Amino acid sequence: MQRRNSQNVLLSTALNEFYGAADEMGLSEKLVSILSHSERRVHVSLPVEMDDGSVQVFDGYRVQHSTALGPSKGGIRYDLGVDMDECEALAMLMTWKCSLAGIPYGGGKGGICCDPLNMSKREKERLTRTYGARIEPLLGRWNDVPAPDMNSGSQEMVWILDTVCKMRGKLEPAILTGKPVTYWGSFGRNEATGRGVATCGLEFMKALNKHPDTVTAAVQGFGNVGSYTAKVLNEAGVKVVAISDITGSYYSPGGIDIRKAFEVIHNNPKKLLTGFEQIGNCEKIDDVLFADCEFLFPCARDGVINYDTAGKIKARYIVEGANGPVTPEGDKILDESGVVIVPDFLANSGGVIGSYFEWAQNLQGEFWSEEEYNNKLIKIMKNNFRLVWDYAEAKHVKMRRAATMAAIQKVADVVEMRGIFL
Ligand code: NAD
Repeated sequence: MQRRNSQNVLLSTALNEFYGAADEMGLSEKLVSILSHSERRVHVSLPVEMDDGSVQVFDGYRVQHSTALGPSKGGIRYDLGVDMDECEALAMLMTWKCSLAGIPYGGGKGGICCDPLNMSKREKERLTRTYGARIEPLLGRWNDVPAPDMNSGSQEMVWILDTVCKMRGKLEPAILTGKPVTYWGSFGRNEATGRGVATCGLEFMKALNKHPDTVTAAVQGFGNVGSYTAKVLNEAGVKVVAISDITGSYYSPGGIDIRKAFEVIHNNPKKLLTGFEQIGNCEKIDDVLFADCEFLFPCARDGVINYDTAGKIKARYIVEGANGPVTPEGDKILDESGVVIVPDFLANSGGVIGSYFEWAQNLQGEFWSEEEYNNKLIKIMKNNFRLVWDYAEAKHVKMRRAATMAAIQKVADVVEMRGIFL
């Protein structure tokens, strides 16, 4: 049977990882064929009246890769790079991420090709509401449940929710997640991804028989994911010796004062670590990626550990907080030098597990305390780490491959059980 290929780097990488894992599992060609295609790919045109009176037509997308396990789940991004192939690749990764996380969701992704940083708030609202209206037939608590993604947040979610609710004449808070706590959102969601990354890191240390008190770590990125990863690691006793953001990398062999780092970003309008070397009593170094430490947590962006940088990394263990921080070339170099990696769609799944908690609360009209939310999250993350660790040992494969195989297996089993309809 002919296998799919794509010119798009993200889609070809996603397909290649899927085909590689499927071959290793001996998945039937029928299932390979079904799972390498998306169930639904929708393209919408979005005419928007700009502030100067002109009309601009934007392209929007929503892809549902699989709804085998449940409603499709995945973010909506605003970026000039958004197209159908990118959404398809990310939707497929969401299918595996949700399957591995053990939550009842399939995978989806959407986005609008636009330059959000050069649009006014009103223009962005009109664009978002038009997008929401165009994809309204897809949305539903049992159909497709979007969330924020690159350049979108709780404001965009509320605009879409408000538009859909007015079109339907009823309140439906469970049709999307990432809402503010004051409007059907959940306590704990803000920290969930970082807390999950750190929990994975701590379980990793336990599996390696290392006590957190004896471990040094570096965290790249001090935004939503990186800052809470560093905070939770630090609270568990790990010595975080280096942190970074776009202003630079900061190093202290005695350990970074994470509380002061939070103070600096809270007092900075752009939430940056500007001037942290003075207040944090640490030195600036070239790159956090090459810091002297045992564990590295890349939590900033994709592609940072690549052919050029992988060979200079001193850490022996990497936990991928960001999506796709290690390129396939970087992965190969690290593998050859014996570095062990916990893959992104296991390590950063706290975000989507947290979204599932929000949805579950909305369905029941419940509001959990932060403590209840965190305890449930930590329990699931620990179990999932152990599942992948054991699977990797049993099958003698790397954790990335083990995680992909475990995730695909669950979806394939359900597709097989449900059968092909029509
Ligand atoms: P963010 O915008 O809040 O933070 C990004 C941080 O990285 C900022 O501190 C920024 O200054 C820094 N940064 C950017 N480029 C850098 C570079 N080259 N070197 C060093 N620092 C750099 O974003 P976020 O929400 O924390 O997301 C980070 C990554 O995690 C992304 O890959 C995202 O897709 C992924 N992710 C986020 C969530 C979530 O819930 N926020 C969930 C899953 C995955």
